[in-house]
Amino acid sequence: MAVDSAISSPLGPPACEKDAKALRFIEEMTRNADAVQERVLAEILSRNADTEYLKRFELGGAADRETFKSKIPVITYEDVQPEIQRIANGDRSAILSAHPISEFLTSSGTSAGERKLMPTIKEELDRRQLLYSLLMPVMNLYVPGLDKGKGLYFLFVKSETRTPGGLLARPVLTSYYKSEHFKTRPYDPYNVYTSPNEAILCPDSFQSMYTQMLCGLIERHQVLRLGAVFASGLLRAIRFLQLNWPELVDDIRTGTLNSRITDPAIREHMMKVVKPDPELARFMTQQCSMDNWEGIITRIWPNTKYLDVIVTGAMAQYIPTLNYYSGGLPLACTMYASSECYFGLNLNPMCKPSEVSYSIMPNMAYFEFLPHSPLGSISSKLVDLADVEVGKEYELVITTYAGLYRYRVGDILRVTGFHNSAPQFHFVRRKNVLLSIDSDKTDESELQKGIENASKLLAEFNTSVVEYTSYADTTTIPGHYVIYWELLTKDSANSPSHEVLDRCCLQMEESLNSVYRQCRVADHSIGPLEIRVVKNGTFEELMDYAISRGASINQYKVPRCVNFTPIMELLDSRVLSLHFSKELPHWTPERRR
Ligand code: AMP
Repeated sequence: MAVDSAISSPLGPPACEKDAKALRFIEEMTRNADAVQERVLAEILSRNADTEYLKRFELGGAADRETFKSKIPVITYEDVQPEIQRIANGDRSAILSAHPISEFLTSSGTSAGERKLMPTIKEELDRRQLLYSLLMPVMNLYVPGLDKGKGLYFLFVKSETRTPGGLLARPVLTSYYKSEHFKTRPYDPYNVYTSPNEAILCPDSFQSMYTQMLCGLIERHQVLRLGAVFASGLLRAIRFLQLNWPELVDDIRTGTLNSRITDPAIREHMMKVVKPDPELARFMTQQCSMDNWEGIITRIWPNTKYLDVIVTGAMAQYIPTLNYYSGGLPLACTMYASSECYFGLNLNPMCKPSEVSYSIMPNMAYFEFLPHSPLGSISSKLVDLADVEVGKEYELVITTYAGLYRYRVGDILRVTGFHNSAPQFHFVRRKNVLLSIDSDKTDESELQKGIENASKLLAEFNTSVVEYTSYADTTTIPGHYVIYWELLTKDSANSPSHEVLDRCCLQMEESLNSVYRQCRVADHSIGPLEIRVVKNGTFEELMDYAISRGASINQYKVPRCVNFTPIMELLDSRVLSLHFSKELPHWTPERRR
């Protein structure tokens, strides 16, 4: 029930006192967006005034916007990589930040094939925690009664390494789940998970997923919301259920725990949880043995009110599949964040996925916006958060407390409106991403390098790749990369065998970046890469098709990634043979450099 109107918020009546405080904070931040931004920049610049990086640009102690903008260059990761490498190698002097770098957060964006290392400082955890604490108060405005049950969230930690200088390097969510902020979070009736910490913190993805699923099944009537960080993660959980339900049902029937679950902390916890429940076992067998899994989520978890997963950006490709399994439950995208910095939240989380806009919270960092025209041209004049214009597209540029200054994130955002004086943004896309299935991001040059390396295996057969394109196939779970190849074989008596072409698939995978290979090997969130060899002349037909639809013959370039149905149909109708990676590529948590 809503609390009295004395603490009401312009966003709506808060569900409890705690929510009222959070909503007031959002109001305060968004009403004073420009003033907060000015204060944030001044704070960052004054506390870091003596860092090697800022001293290099001779700010002379100034902490105002004008001096900052006139002296500090706009940079990309590669520009600051030497400084980052020195910190990673153990230099503890104040290079980027006056506060010690506490660890590196490994981004899913890569540089030279390896995850980018983002510096962070201890207090950033508080800032992230603050943003998390705003999500449920906003959700409670739209979905009542979330304190009457639990959330089934599939959350995972990933492997971590140490840099040569001894700092931890791990993904931001791994850092958060392992923090005291998460592990010892106070009880909040609006935010109770079915997954025990022991399962979330287990580094073995099978044991973690198995336990989280088992707990979610045991408490199926309690579950009011189901989620994962990204849509691909939730679909992977459904696929896991498809593959493992007989074992899960066995545990439920007998009240025991599968012997493949060996993690002592999980075993100890689950001994208190698993009890024989023959009725649930019968129900699960009946549901899961059906061929038709349409609406399975609402059948197993009938009280689910919404799915909490990111389906904006590259994840939009999963919306139809999620709708299929959930019978069209609302999809809530609640926040927009990255390893560099957490940005903001969606103040209207029950809106349609196509209408999702994120409000950047001005207290998180100092934000600037590089105007970006749809044709790709960019102007050099950066705009402040409060000055962006509705309808225009910008690339996000951030200055963080942890020591990134005017750093180009690579995300393109379109302004859709304002909440008070804070703009709201539609996530348009990430720059230079050709293919993405899960958290992987493959760009055109990485794909090209993969093709070159794989086609070396064809040289002894006097065969070369004359044209290629690619496609992220998400009709399978997990999805996988499909590469269409048109080959030129000079000596048909000695053409490459099926087995050689299978090896080309693996060779391509070996060439792709470490995030792709980790998804393949550790997370199993990407399936084996597929090469489809098409008939000679197919790519010429593709060009004819594009020209018939108005493309200029002089400017025509083969698209390196396709997803337009008629083009896919044309390509698929010309396929001569299909090939798959028969093995996993190499991947270890260690960085190659
Ligand atoms: P990472 O550095 O691996 O943490 O990835 C951060 C990136 O993921 C962001 O810069 C975005 O490109 C993408 N991302 C994060 N949140 C969202 C969201 N809500 N919608 C679309 N893309 C997102």
